[in-house]
Amino acid sequence: MRVAVVYNQQKQTIDVVQHLLKLLKKADIQLDEREPEIVISVGGDGTLLSAFHRYSHRLKDVSFLGIHTGHLGFYTDWRDYELEELVESLKNNRGQSVSYPLLDVVIRYLNDKPDRHFLALNESTIKRGSRTMVADVYIKEELFERFRGDGLSVSTPTGSTAYNKSVGGAVLHPSINAIQLAEIASLNNRVFRTLGSPIIIAANEWLEIRLQDSNDYLITVDSLDIQQDEIDAIFYRIADERIQFASYRHMHFWHRVKDAFIGDT
Ligand code: NAP
Ligand code: MN
Repeated sequence: MRVAVVYNQQKQTIDVVQHLLKLLKKADIQLDEREPEIVISVGGDGTLLSAFHRYSHRLKDVSFLGIHTGHLGFYTDWRDYELEELVESLKNNRGQSVSYPLLDVVIRYLNDKPDRHFLALNESTIKRGSRTMVADVYIKEELFERFRGDGLSVSTPTGSTAYNKSVGGAVLHPSINAIQLAEIASLNNRVFRTLGSPIIIAANEWLEIRLQDSNDYLITVDSLDIQQDEIDAIFYRIADERIQFASYRHMHFWHRVKDAFIGDT
């Protein structure tokens, strides 16, 4: 078993990581930053996002596991006081893994520049500077609507509780293999019209967002900002790759949603 540990710089995190490293050593579990089989993230959901992007070239060979040192996260479900139990399960390799869908992002340019390809764990958004973003939204090859407004967000099921939720998207159970398009402040009046509600497209469908030529687009992929001009279109679909989580116990998704957003009632 080869393990890598990715963590943030908070004091509480550093303490947990030091304890974790000791336990891993005692259990004879090898550390391998380059070719780990398990990636343990210590911190918050943001820490797990960066761990995902660090190892996204090895998704077939890697399972992720998240320890949270702040509030309970959606990707980080181990508590920092459960380290012994966690290392024990790793050592006995008792766990199963679960996998969740990822978002495949392709940016196509107007000039001869080659396409750029990304994977998102949470979402990708398209926004503009101060001007209204005008974009034609195609589902498969068919024009669906002309969008005018601040921007668009396309999210995965596990990303549905992040930015997507803030812009009025639905929360999706992560066993559903689909991606969701949500509007960010669309202009709707007698002249301009969009559907006005989020849509969830099927696994065999894809989105094509055709942009007007402008030099002030901001594309995000999780925590990454991509500022670029001469973008022709952006394609979104469910990726062939999936993210695997080492699951050593059962986690109830709706329980976690309740805990994060509603609390005790
Ligand atoms: P951040 O600005 O620190 O994250 C914003 C918040 O989103 C944090 O509380 C983070 O949790 C939480 N979060 C991340 N992924 C989540 C998920 N799948 N479900 C529920 N909450 C989630 O930046 P970051 O930590 O690098 O995370 C980047 C993500 O932040 C982006 O992918 C985007 O989804 C989200 N974001 C949301 C808004 C918004 O809601 N208006 C604005 C910008 C970005 P932790 O504290 O545990 O890290
Ligand atoms: Mn964060």
